[in-house]
Amino acid sequence: KGGPVEPEQVVKKYLENVEKPSDEDCIICMETLNTASGYSDSTESKTIKPAAVGKLKTCGHVFHQLCMLAMYNNGNKDGSLQCPACKTIYGEKTGIQPKGKMEIFRISQSLPGNQDCGTIHIMYMINPGIQSPEHPTPGKPYTARGFPRHCYLPDNTKGRLVLDLLKLAWSRRLIFTIGVSSTTGESDTVVWNEIHHKTEMNSNITGHGYPDPNYLDNVIAELASQGVTEEGLNM
Ligand code: NAD
Ligand code: ZN
Ligand code: ZN
Repeated sequence: KGGPVEPEQVVKKYLENVEKPSDEDCIICMETLNTASGYSDSTESKTIKPAAVGKLKTCGHVFHQLCMLAMYNNGNKDGSLQCPACKTIYGEKTGIQPKGKMEIFRISQSLPGNQDCGTIHIMYMINPGIQSPEHPTPGKPYTARGFPRHCYLPDNTKGRLVLDLLKLAWSRRLIFTIGVSSTTGESDTVVWNEIHHKTEMNSNITGHGYPDPNYLDNVIAELASQGVTEEGLNM
């Protein structure tokens, strides 16, 4: 991976210029596409004009280019863009997961509902620390509750695929994030980031346990919605 990319370059890489914009609304600023971007006062750009409109190359959704730039600048500026209309990801999305450790173990015992195989045991360890510039409140401490966190997958073909995808998601800093815990209400703390894990092996007290026949398919879909797919495993 190269060095940091200019935000304008990222926007230009994934948007095609639209010469004659329609009178539809830009869903980022809610102004019509044939008028200036609602972000033209707050977003400085030497190379993108207030009325410039662009179309995302794969999904075809259309926005003001300055609105896209404002949206990008508001995120963690990792060189990727996500369409705000359909969530298509351009480039490789990464998160803001703080540093930590992911470790894998094997257990011979089976999970409820997966009697024909053993179990993969994942352990995540993250310590409290100080927030970096990409975090919600840079310079402020963050807490890390309930670590190490233990998670379980069936040790079969699909479970091992999910394990590989989780490792990729971990390397892209997507498993955890820093924010408000919906369980405890605590802010500036390490929380799960929309990729569900099974944290109970033999019980299902929290609802995050087994049996759950749809779990592997559901988590594969959650990973895909963050851009983590089988394709990425071969790169
Ligand atoms: P959160 O409450 O903000 O929820 C984020 C997502 O994680 C949601 O989708 C939610 O459904 C899911 N989630 C909530 N509780 C979960 C659980 N026990 N196992 C798996 N997924 C869960 O997320 P959070 O604050 O990171 O975690 C929720 C709470 O669970 C926290 O209070 C945490 O300390 C606790 N927890 C403890 C352990 C432990 O081993 N002691 C392990 C996991 C979670
Ligand atoms: Zn706009
Ligand atoms: Zn789209």
